[in-house]
Amino acid sequence: MLTAKAVKKMAKAMGADKVSIGNIERWEGAPLQMDPRQIMPEARSVIAMAFRVMRGSLRGIEEGTFFSNYSAMGYGGLTYLYIPLTVINLSKFIEDHGYEAIPIGHQSDWRAIDNEGNLRSKKSRPVAPGRPAPDVMVHLRIAGYLCGLGEIGYSKVFLTPEFGPRQRIGIVLTEAALEPDPIYAGPSLCNRCMACVKHCPGQAISADQTVKVTLAGQPAEWGQLDCNACHIAFCGGQAVEGTLDPEHTYTDPLYKKNIAPSPWTPFYRKPRNLYNTGQAICGGQGCVRACMISLENRGVLTNKFHEKFRRRKPWSVDWAMESKTAAPRKSTGGVEPD
Ligand code: SF4
Ligand code: SF4
Repeated sequence: MLTAKAVKKMAKAMGADKVSIGNIERWEGAPLQMDPRQIMPEARSVIAMAFRVMRGSLRGIEEGTFFSNYSAMGYGGLTYLYIPLTVINLSKFIEDHGYEAIPIGHQSDWRAIDNEGNLRSKKSRPVAPGRPAPDVMVHLRIAGYLCGLGEIGYSKVFLTPEFGPRQRIGIVLTEAALEPDPIYAGPSLCNRCMACVKHCPGQAISADQTVKVTLAGQPAEWGQLDCNACHIAFCGGQAVEGTLDPEHTYTDPLYKKNIAPSPWTPFYRKPRNLYNTGQAICGGQGCVRACMISLENRGVLTNKFHEKFRRRKPWSVDWAMESKTAAPRKSTGGVEPD
């Protein structure tokens, strides 16, 4: 017989750092476009797994000398390599016991809804009346919450008692009925310290506008996130008004804004992606690093270190000096040329 204990043991052996299981009834009331039962109508359990981002993967950005590691070995490597391997192999293990299983990682590029939850224009259409448009997107942070991995912080980043904001989430939907874990009810991890808001370089997290939802009967709330502002800052840029300085600015083809290098990037242009997502130049300055520092200072995380994370004064780059000496640059659409 397939048990929750056996599934968790296997998931950990395959690389998950933490595993929790939620019964499908916890998704009662979920929006149609985000309801896992629309993907697998006979699903009975959701298995959520947390995969830690090494604190060391943030070290190079903290020091200003090695930016690719967070994207390659932390953020993108987990998202596009490590999590898929684990959720696929765990699904095989479950199917070997005669229960259908769907491995789900970060594959939301095909989702029918945009960041605000609205249907994307001319993206896809339902296959029958009353059905959602494909792809349905299971919200991974909400799945993490409903399965009991942790809580959603004010920053909207998922927090666990082990790693704070340092993890990515992968899930498996299955028809197997597995003993569920309780929803996280430990001491609140997020104390609304607002370090994420204060240190977000894109000022993307609102200090006073919030989103309130009810998840399995429990209230949850996080700060309104400006996804466009986040994306620009996340990639190291800052939106600038007025005349373009061709030496240092480009027009972002997606957001139609003039972007210049910001004090939180040493790169003239966003480097090419690594594992499809090598864009995390800001290194989660607010929502990951500042949050982690705050949680570590409060002593609430169980993954402890001998030395504190921030050991030197944070750096910043003065692009005003550079603009007086740089040679004219040809536009590359914002991406570093080969
Ligand atoms: S930085 Fe503070 S307010 Fe923001 S998510 Fe972390 S604990 Fe919550
Ligand atoms: S990823 Fe960077 S820009 Fe986006 S919310 Fe976090 S700190 Fe702000």
